[in-house]
Amino acid sequence: MTIAIVSAMHEELAAVLRLLPEEHRQVAAGREFWRGRLHGHEVVVVLSRIGKVAAATTATALIERFGVERIVFTGVAGGLAPGVHVGDVVVADSFLQHDLDASPIFPRYEVPLYGTSRFATDGALTATLAAAARAALPGTALHRGLVVSGDRFVATTVESRALQAALPEALAVEMEGAAIAQVCHDYGVPFAAVRTISDRADDEAHGDFTRFVEEVASRHSAAMVAALLRML
Ligand code: SAH
Repeated sequence: MTIAIVSAMHEELAAVLRLLPEEHRQVAAGREFWRGRLHGHEVVVVLSRIGKVAAATTATALIERFGVERIVFTGVAGGLAPGVHVGDVVVADSFLQHDLDASPIFPRYEVPLYGTSRFATDGALTATLAAAARAALPGTALHRGLVVSGDRFVATTVESRALQAALPEALAVEMEGAAIAQVCHDYGVPFAAVRTISDRADDEAHGDFTRFVEEVASRHSAAMVAALLRML
C-alpha cells in the first residue's frame, strides 16, 4: 500500500526529505517525487507547489503515475475560528473552496455538477492521523473540522473576518486541501490532511507565516509523519 506524503512548500517537508536519498528523486509534471521506504512503508513524497491547480495536478500524478493508494497532506495554514491559535494543529474532516462561486446557477461554494460544496476526508485515515498528531506533539492543541482552501494568501484582518462571517465553521484557511480532496473523491483514494497554524490570516500573517515556516513547520511535519507511519 503506497502512501503519498504531500506538502506545498519545501520548508514544510525538509526534515522528511532529508530521510530519502537523492537518487530516489524523479521529476514528473515538473515536480520532484521521491520514492522510498519510511518506517516500514512504501512512500512517495512530493512538493505540490502552492495553490489548487498545482495541488490537483500533483494528486492526479500521484494516483495515475505512481499508483499511490492513500494521500496524506502535511503543512501550514492560517487560523480562522477564534480558538485556533498559531502553533495549534488542525486535522481536516472536510474541505470547501472558499473562492468558488458559480451562483446563481449553483449555490455559492457548490462545486458545479457535484451537488456538494464539501468533500470529506477519509474517516479511518483521519482518525489515525489525529492520533499520530497527538502522540507526536503532546501538549499541542488539536482541532478537527472544516478547512477551507482558495487561491489567495489571506493576510488581512478584513478578509479573515469576512471569511469567518461567511463560513463560521471553518477552522483554518490554506490553498491546496480542497483540490486534493476533490481529486481523491473522484478516484476513490483515501485522503487525510493535517495543518499546523502558522498565522491567523490577519494583518500580521505575512511575518508570522515566514517565521513559522522557517522555524517550526518542517519539524512538526516530520514528527507527525513518523508517528503516522508507525501507527499505520
Ligand atoms: N508569501 C509566501 C506564499 C506562501 S502561500 C511565500 O513567499 O512563500 C501560503 C502557503 O501556506 C500555502 O501553501 C497555503 O496552503 C499555506 N497558508 C498558510 N497560511 C495561509 C493563509 N493565511 N492563507 C492562505 N494560505 C495559507
